[in-house]
Amino acid sequence: MARPKGRAGVQWRHQSVPEEWALQHELRTLAIKVKVAAAVSARQGHRCCFPDCEHPIISYPHGIRWDQGGVDDEINRAGVCASHQLLMRGSRESDDEARAYLQGWLQRYYQETAGLAPEVWELIARGRPPADLEVTGT
Ligand SMILES: [Zn+2]
Repeated sequence: MARPKGRAGVQWRHQSVPEEWALQHELRTLAIKVKVAAAVSARQGHRCCFPDCEHPIISYPHGIRWDQGGVDDEINRAGVCASHQLLMRGSRESDDEARAYLQGWLQRYYQETAGLAPEVWELIARGRPPADLEVTGT
């Protein structure tokens, strides 16, 4: 069956929604991604987070994988260079090792800047902040 054209609507994530609505949603999502990427990049001085690596950031992988409940936010993202991005896309072992490093880096960063204990960081990075949490600083 032919898809309706023009203003009638578009198929978007298995639903028929107005074209304008879908476009606005995509633009909003993109704006959030740009904002998160800019914040992470500035936080790291626009350099890869791996030790002794001075290369520019090209990617912002999750510390806790998105498909394992990690949030899509700067608290769960670190910037990596092309080489380290490749490492994370290599074998399962190298990916796990690199991601463990990212998690450690993020935990240390938030411990130093916001005073978060590693287990509290993990709860927030999984979108489940403790009810009594009060974060000071950024
Ligand atoms: Zn690097």
